[in-house]
Amino acid sequence: MKRKIKSTLIVSLLVWTVGVLPNIAVGQQTRIVAPKNRYKLSDDIKLGKQASAEAERQFPILNDAITTDYVASVGQRLVAAIPREFQHPEFTYRFKVVNANDINAFALPGGPMYVNRGMIQAARNEGEMAGVMAHEISHVALRHATAQATKQSSIGNQLGMLGMILGGAIVGGQAGAQAGAIGAQAWMLKYSREYESQADMLGAQIMANAGYDPHDLANVFQTIEAQGGSRGPQWLSDHPNPGNRYDAINHEAQYLNVSSNPIKMTSGFERVKSRLSGMAPARSSAEIQRDNGRNGGGNQGGYENQSPTANGRYSRSVDYPSSRTRTYTGGNWVSLRIPDNWQDFSTSSQVTFAPAGAYGNQGITHGAMIGISRSNSRDAYQATQDYINELLQGNSYLRQRGSLLRTTMSGLQGYTTQLTGRSDVTGDTEIVTVYAALMRNGDLFYLETVSPQSESADYSNAFRNMVSSVRLVDR
Ligand SMILES: [Zn+2]
Repeated sequence: MKRKIKSTLIVSLLVWTVGVLPNIAVGQQTRIVAPKNRYKLSDDIKLGKQASAEAERQFPILNDAITTDYVASVGQRLVAAIPREFQHPEFTYRFKVVNANDINAFALPGGPMYVNRGMIQAARNEGEMAGVMAHEISHVALRHATAQATKQSSIGNQLGMLGMILGGAIVGGQAGAQAGAIGAQAWMLKYSREYESQADMLGAQIMANAGYDPHDLANVFQTIEAQGGSRGPQWLSDHPNPGNRYDAINHEAQYLNVSSNPIKMTSGFERVKSRLSGMAPARSSAEIQRDNGRNGGGNQGGYENQSPTANGRYSRSVDYPSSRTRTYTGGNWVSLRIPDNWQDFSTSSQVTFAPAGAYGNQGITHGAMIGISRSNSRDAYQATQDYINELLQGNSYLRQRGSLLRTTMSGLQGYTTQLTGRSDVTGDTEIVTVYAALMRNGDLFYLETVSPQSESADYSNAFRNMVSSVRLVDR
């Protein structure tokens, strides 16, 4: 059972911001206004520190001074070119190369940035590599991670990722060492289109200020699309096209003061590319996470480390849910009791509970998820069905077994139904039971439980106790 493909929160944010122009064109170049943010700069820094520690537990950092120094020098040149109003002297931009062959890069709040080896190898010149980095730096400088959390809270979603992360749920405490693939998604934030557009515009301005050609920022999106194949889409899906991205960046470029001889191909870039191609091939991020599981590394045993048995099924190695429970509290608005041998993993829109061995980068095989889905419908039945349709889209092997039945959760009228289908991960029929209730503020609260059909009897008590223990503070 996977998370929904698209966060409904992001979808709802788009709806919510219709009519708001994120970038205001004044005269010529786009004037960028950093989005509203109710967090302190020190929150960005704290968040980035925690997430970078987690990232470096999971991903191998390339240990090659020449490559790292080169990437850092490009990064520092870009950082020095950030327009004054977005420079936060408190932030520390630093750059590392991840030894993974997929085309990806990410920057964390407050400045830590990681560029995959595959991204450098895919770029056609230094300008294209700088383009990706300028785009990432722009998200950091505009404080998009904390701005997004600000916005989510302001529309009544108390499951904002910051409350969770700063409360230690993701990278500290319980889940810290075992966050694995699910935890990873928490810091590989998917940005809204509005923020994407801002990062493109500021990225183009930084490129020009730094002596690069902003067109290379536009070009690199095409390069990634063209070379991406199975290695590429992650960066593009984390940075969705706000619409006409290529044209918008090139349009912006004509208003910028671009050097007549911008930095394109450099000897440093050529040298690093040839060093990288001479090294042993890198694994993909997915392979790295799988191996982490095998070696008891950061991801302590996902289902990937189970070996298929003779009939091609995965052997059972997930512990029974403990009959002892612990209380999970999220953001002062929800609590419930979960088996005390389950971990919790938060992302910006969802909290997942699962035992060791039941989670991996394809979702969970045993456990439960809770979250908030912003609904367009004020009708609980319709809102629940809309949510389920979305869930089915992201998990195409599942089918809804029947219509919605009435239930109550935390005293609220709600609906429940079952989805079933054969899971590729376990080779077994999976049962997903969805419970949802519409809160007074219009948000749909959902809880879904997941287990293989063959083990459902072992889980029924645990699931029933979870559902009955849910307490929502309905604002
Ligand atoms: Zn982006």
